Amino acid sequence: MRTLTHYIDGKPVSGRSGRYGAVFNPATGQVAAQAPLASAEETQAAIRAAAAAFPAWAATPAAKRAQVMFRLRDLVLSHMDELAALVSSEHGKTLADAKGSITRGLEVVEFACGIPQMLKGEFSEQVAGGVDAWSFRQPLGVCAGITPFNFPAMVPLWMIPVALACGNSFVLKPSERDPSTALRLAALFSEAGLPPGVLNVVVGDKEAVDTLLTDPQVQAVSFVGSTAIGKYIYATGAAHGKRVQALCGAKNHLVVMPDADLDQVTDALMGAAYGSAGERCMAVSVAVAVGEETADQVVARLAPRVRALRVGAYTDAAAEMGPVITADSLARIKGYVEAGLRDGADLVVDGRGVRVPGHEGGFFLGGCLFDRVRPDMSIYTDEIFGPVLVVVRVPDYESALELVNVHPYGNGAALFTRDGDCARDFTARVQAGMVGINVPIPVPVAYHSFGGWKQSLFGDLHVHGPEGVRFYTRQKAVTARWPSGIRAGAQFNFRSGADH
Ligand code: NAD
Repeated sequence: MRTLTHYIDGKPVSGRSGRYGAVFNPATGQVAAQAPLASAEETQAAIRAAAAAFPAWAATPAAKRAQVMFRLRDLVLSHMDELAALVSSEHGKTLADAKGSITRGLEVVEFACGIPQMLKGEFSEQVAGGVDAWSFRQPLGVCAGITPFNFPAMVPLWMIPVALACGNSFVLKPSERDPSTALRLAALFSEAGLPPGVLNVVVGDKEAVDTLLTDPQVQAVSFVGSTAIGKYIYATGAAHGKRVQALCGAKNHLVVMPDADLDQVTDALMGAAYGSAGERCMAVSVAVAVGEETADQVVARLAPRVRALRVGAYTDAAAEMGPVITADSLARIKGYVEAGLRDGADLVVDGRGVRVPGHEGGFFLGGCLFDRVRPDMSIYTDEIFGPVLVVVRVPDYESALELVNVHPYGNGAALFTRDGDCARDFTARVQAGMVGINVPIPVPVAYHSFGGWKQSLFGDLHVHGPEGVRFYTRQKAVTARWPSGIRAGAQFNFRSGADH
């Protein structure tokens, strides 16, 4: 069995804590590797390496930093098959989906290639006699990233290229359930010319996270994961004086208006609810059908498609959906299906009996579809993070909008309609950070920013795009008087430029 390492100061470093976590191949249920769980001392070693590398990296011209991103882009493309196989073998998602997610991460690398343009400042000449004022943005120092299991390449790539291109150094703590891709990416960054220590990866659990949250050398923390942990990260990081962005859980609704193209709706729901086995923070897990007839038609179209979903290992090129991440996760999701039945929802498709020949030990679950779900049921209130879609029936558009808006999560929300007035109203009034109009998973492209509202995000700034650059930099404003021969005299009162 493979034993994984950390990646500190430009090289792999073996774990010394004596603690390990199991990394499974979810398609077989077998343990594929042992992940070292970093001690506080090992995490501090990574922080020290990042702190030592920061001054020279911050002083490196932005265009030169961007050249590393150009080379990394080529390396990720030439290693695409290897990276996708790493993602799929530890996460379980299909190879095509793994490649798609790496490509979305690569778009952030491409965005980072152009970051010098975004670090430009503002300049005002002659704000007073002989006085000029300008402002510009500088890196923060050592930044940390704490990432979830569901996108082992994409989510680290939401953070690292932007942080580094802005001139920061970085310590990543990937999910201990599938850390190999992050370790491989760190090696590719080195190959792309990144100096040792600028990017470090520590594999670990709460002990490593708590060290990152409390070490005074860490200036900022980006977290992506569940809401319960995200709240803790935000509160603890902020209490230790750090800038924090914590992107958290979700329950994304797709509202189906009676005039929507129902073939388009059905395709959208299939991909958005069951792709990646529902383990996406932007998965659609609630279909809100407006009107009984719309609901009947949506369920009638979905049911045979959900029954026919091809569930399989990532090695099966025809598979549409892989297993979930662990046996615990499988048991938790099945528990929700049982709760839905107990609460009286109508289980139209039950995926619990699915068998994948040759992969009997894998953590597989077929697609599940519930109809006539009420807002007080746990299958509606909670993020299930599995291949379970619930249909809620509402009488009209206002009730649909109200349902979306009172839900505590507000990551994404979508509306399917042919009515422009309705679409415009939804866009204006919906309480969610990312909105799709006839688009089921409205993940913003890399040069816009990604983030939710309400319990889906704690902090002020979203990731990547312009908000990512703001998160990883701080502004400095300079006021300078030249030539030095100009005498202003002693000024005891505040004066404005107009007084000069
Ligand atoms: P998680 O919260 O269990 O873990 C996220 C990270 O926190 C991991 O690195 C983990 O090691 C660490 N962690 C776990 N428990 C901790 C503790 N007690 N103290 C300190 N650190 C701890 O999340 P997960 O199960 O890996 O990922 C799934 C969750 O992530 C879902 O809720 C999903 O919606 C969310 N997610 C959100 C987004 C988004 O952009 N909003 C994107 C992807 C995933």
